[in-house]
Amino acid sequence: MEAPQQILSVKGLKKYFPIRAGVFSRVTGYVKAVDGIDFDIRSGEAYGLVGESGCGKSTAGMTILRLINPTDGEVLYKGKDVSTLDKDELRKMRPEMQIIFQDPYSSLNPRMSVGEAIGESLEVHGIATGKERRERVISVLRECGLDEHHFRRYPHEFSGGQRQRIGIARALVLEPEFIVADEPVSALDVSIQSQIINLMERLQEKFGLTFLFISHDLSVVKHISDRVGVMYLGRIVEDAPKKELYSSPMHPYSQALLSAVPTMQPKIKKERIILKGDVPSPSNPPPGCTFHPRCPWAEEVCSQEVPVLKKAGTDHYVSCHLVKEVT
Ligand code: SF4
Repeated sequence: MEAPQQILSVKGLKKYFPIRAGVFSRVTGYVKAVDGIDFDIRSGEAYGLVGESGCGKSTAGMTILRLINPTDGEVLYKGKDVSTLDKDELRKMRPEMQIIFQDPYSSLNPRMSVGEAIGESLEVHGIATGKERRERVISVLRECGLDEHHFRRYPHEFSGGQRQRIGIARALVLEPEFIVADEPVSALDVSIQSQIINLMERLQEKFGLTFLFISHDLSVVKHISDRVGVMYLGRIVEDAPKKELYSSPMHPYSQALLSAVPTMQPKIKKERIILKGDVPSPSNPPPGCTFHPRCPWAEEVCSQEVPVLKKAGTDHYVSCHLVKEVT
């Protein structure tokens, strides 16, 4: 069987937000929300991007889709650099690359019926109008577990889970190939979370979708992802196939995060690794390895040299001075 093609390749992506102060609003520094990340996603794959809140994962997702402009780096989607596309080229590419937001309610216009909200983009992109538009919206509503009679309803008439189904339908109606799902279940009750994840998995399989799945919740990411990148303070510190990351994490930060994930086997007792201190501010990151003030393994070199992501196993990459590189 042929290996799936790479659909997205992120190279050295950075997003810095200027900090302005004083009467003249001079730039006095930068919040380094995303500070040089690299990863690839293959067609039909779900890549999970995890990390604590504020680590830059949502900014990374928005920058990849060019909803905000990158400071530096490349985002190659099917070989084309999204970060350099002009307005027209970007507009043409939009239907292929969609987003599902964390809070579907705030992303839905309360004065628009569900049918209008989902169908709007079909008209904006000149894909379908009138009867065809209505049929496509109803078909996508059904795919997402809703019904024809929901077409005329308004967002406030739906539960949280149903609203997220509407959010998914809105992303899906343009028949995208690549979807960034930014914390798509974190605003939902646990019982509803699994329904939405199952729906996304079913849609992924049926339509061959490729997902960048962003979440702070490692249990959720474990369920849906094929591959996982762990982010800390704007950088990816570990990138590995899901099974390998969850069974043998190599970076001390990944180990600490995973030690907090509850196990399904109550007989297996895991020792929880408690990290000291808080995540430093991305406007003033520590020198060298940004994890060094909290790292249980830190040595002198860690505060002086920035570690790079290196191959530490088959298809397993880690950014740590103490992890041995393999060839
Ligand atoms: Fe810890 Fe040093 Fe490795 Fe960073 S480089 S994770 S501080 S051991």
